[in-house]
Amino acid sequence: MYNYYPLSHSSKINLYPVELVATDCIEVEEQNLGPASKEILKNSINNWSKALRGKMSFALKLAGLEEDSHQMVFSNTGLMSEFASLKTIKDIEAFSKKYGLLGIKHPDSEQVNSQTPLIKATLQPAFIFINYGFSVFEPIELWQWHINEVQKILRLYHAVRKASSDELIYEIVEIKMHSGMFGSLTEDKEITDRYFVQWINGEEILMLPEHFEEKPLLEIAQYTLAKILESRISDGINLATGDLISNPSTKGFMITELRYTRYLLAAIYYDLWQTINDSKNIYLCDNENCRLPFVKSGRKKYCNEACKQEAYRIRLKKTEREG
Ligand SMILES: [Zn+2]
Repeated sequence: MYNYYPLSHSSKINLYPVELVATDCIEVEEQNLGPASKEILKNSINNWSKALRGKMSFALKLAGLEEDSHQMVFSNTGLMSEFASLKTIKDIEAFSKKYGLLGIKHPDSEQVNSQTPLIKATLQPAFIFINYGFSVFEPIELWQWHINEVQKILRLYHAVRKASSDELIYEIVEIKMHSGMFGSLTEDKEITDRYFVQWINGEEILMLPEHFEEKPLLEIAQYTLAKILESRISDGINLATGDLISNPSTKGFMITELRYTRYLLAAIYYDLWQTINDSKNIYLCDNENCRLPFVKSGRKKYCNEACKQEAYRIRLKKTEREG
């Protein structure tokens, strides 16, 4: 019961119903799901709860069977912008009802039950929130992490395009040296100093290849953008054959290439990748309480209508105070 989200064209897809639930009051047996999905749901709630150390509040969950599904015409253009502007849990719920679940599978039982310190250390967002797969249950924390991730990537892209100085980039990422054993084979393992790119909240993005260490910050930031997107896309995109176009004069023929994904989240990152490759402009919301990045279209200055209203009220208050 996978969906195939088309990426190179738009087409009809079949969407199963999704609902928002408070995670502490789900009765698995009472769900309107088939036996296999119930089994997955049980494991999913259990493993996510362990992985997030009980800090689960709300989640999005499959809420019905095939007969409850609805069809929609899906196009991934603009999907990323819509996703990046989700703010409240209500916004997230509406988005998931429209497009489905993200398609991130729950962590393995071996991983969440392990007592090995090295494996326990992998129970953090950057490891557990990125594995594409079939899912029936997704913690809201997983959604919020990816919304934030897409916003950070947009900010970095915005800074790279504006980079008249390095300052703007250093507001988003930093480069830190770590000492450790970084070789991939046991016999390569000796302690060395290597440079890492990380978000300013300390979350690591990647280890810089040695030949990049002396390069200008702008190039390092561009490389970082390319690599994050590569890692988000490479596992999620599939190719299929489209039309056969024959050329009677040469007797040759061409097969058109269709791209699609089973995972909504991969479709979102693919749209982000295309936004960057099309050199689209990013604008930071003019509401001083928001400043969210969004794809500029026309003369829009605010990420949504609520921000436009809020900015108006702030301006009014300022004039009142001055008047
Ligand atoms: Zn805004």
